[in-house]
Amino acid sequence: VPPDVPTRDAARSLDAAEVERLRADFPILSRKIGDRDLIYLDSGATSQKPRCVLEAEQQYYEQFNAAVHRGAHSLAVEATDHFEDARAAVAGFVGASPDELVWTSNATEAINLVAYAFSNASAGRGGAAAEPFRLGPGDEIVVTEQEHHANLIPWQELALRTGATLTYIPVAADGALRMDLAPQVIGERTRVVAFTHVSNVLGTITDVARLVELARAAGAVTVLDACQSVPHLPVDVKALDVDFMAFSGHKMLGPTGIGALYGRRELLNALPPFLTGGSMITTVTMERAEFLEAPNRFEAGTQRIAQAVSLAAAVGYLSEVGMDRIAAWEEKLGARLAAGIEPLDGVRLLGPAGVPRIGTAAFDVDGVHPHDVGQFLDAAGVAVRVGHHCAQPLHRALGVNASTRASTYLYNTEQDVDAMLSALADVRGFFG
Ligand code: PLP
Repeated sequence: VPPDVPTRDAARSLDAAEVERLRADFPILSRKIGDRDLIYLDSGATSQKPRCVLEAEQQYYEQFNAAVHRGAHSLAVEATDHFEDARAAVAGFVGASPDELVWTSNATEAINLVAYAFSNASAGRGGAAAEPFRLGPGDEIVVTEQEHHANLIPWQELALRTGATLTYIPVAADGALRMDLAPQVIGERTRVVAFTHVSNVLGTITDVARLVELARAAGAVTVLDACQSVPHLPVDVKALDVDFMAFSGHKMLGPTGIGALYGRRELLNALPPFLTGGSMITTVTMERAEFLEAPNRFEAGTQRIAQAVSLAAAVGYLSEVGMDRIAAWEEKLGARLAAGIEPLDGVRLLGPAGVPRIGTAAFDVDGVHPHDVGQFLDAAGVAVRVGHHCAQPLHRALGVNASTRASTYLYNTEQDVDAMLSALADVRGFFG
């Protein structure tokens, strides 16, 4: 177990009775699929929303809706307060200060923001302060072979724009990250190390501390894709000690359309902006503009105010349940999934054996296309994801084109996992 992973205390886990109570907060979970109860095992793609999150958004529109910042009227002041309180709540949830948290549309935009700021710096923007972000031929950007495309393609494009080289830490045949090779990949030419905290395919956890240590020694900037960790584990960005961190609201009980970028304060303020326009400037002439400090310098245009308020309700809900309790429950569900899949004839569980999985398991069914597996499970009311899960290189390394992924959250029960396993056991027989 990597050192940054708390060894989860089973006694701290949610229990079945609590999960049953939590489920009542999620209206969609009482839906039927045909005549079957919905068994939602696709939270890795997007999570379901508790009533308090739905209500927060509605209440915002019913009572506070106005454009934020600089409004002289009461509604604008109240909307600004709600918006900035939401920023403080979400920043606090990951151990950051409010001025270190930039709202974005999702994690994809957050990572693009950093990559584009690097290329703007490389094109000469940002003055002397932007020096650490200037890339050119000879410089290296390091990623891993496990990445979601959202944390791969922006770096490929940055390399193309700047002449830098993209390199990566490979995975072994079982999908485990080759940490033994990391010291060879991260070296004196490395300027950026971008990596995922939890694999969206395998549910396995990266040894963040080790990669940060290697990146620091090389003088490189670290960017953590925390899309699959912030919803499921207690995450303290200061303890992780990364420079930037991206996550998405919709995967953590919040609404679609909002995500966040954490940036170390001094680095954020040294980055040239990505999107430009209204609300991110101090003075503008016909020739040029001066920019606000972070986070506002990265928030051009009218912001996602209702979504921020409703995401704050989501983190309030998660905090009340307890992230350590959620993580321990999901680790149990992950172990149950793995233990149930492994003995199934003709079904290959993807990923290394014997490591914790945060509520996620991807598998390949011999001779049956994942789309057929997904449809078969759907007929039993079980919603899973099929395809490459935006991680084609990882699938290629695992020797498959696509897979089926079951992913849990705090509202999933052991019965959900068992229902999926029982339907899965019939798949090969059905397709003969
Ligand atoms: N990174 C990881 C690990 C993910 O799982 C996802 C979504 O599946 C993303 C990035 C992209 O998130 P979004 O589509 O919300 O921007």
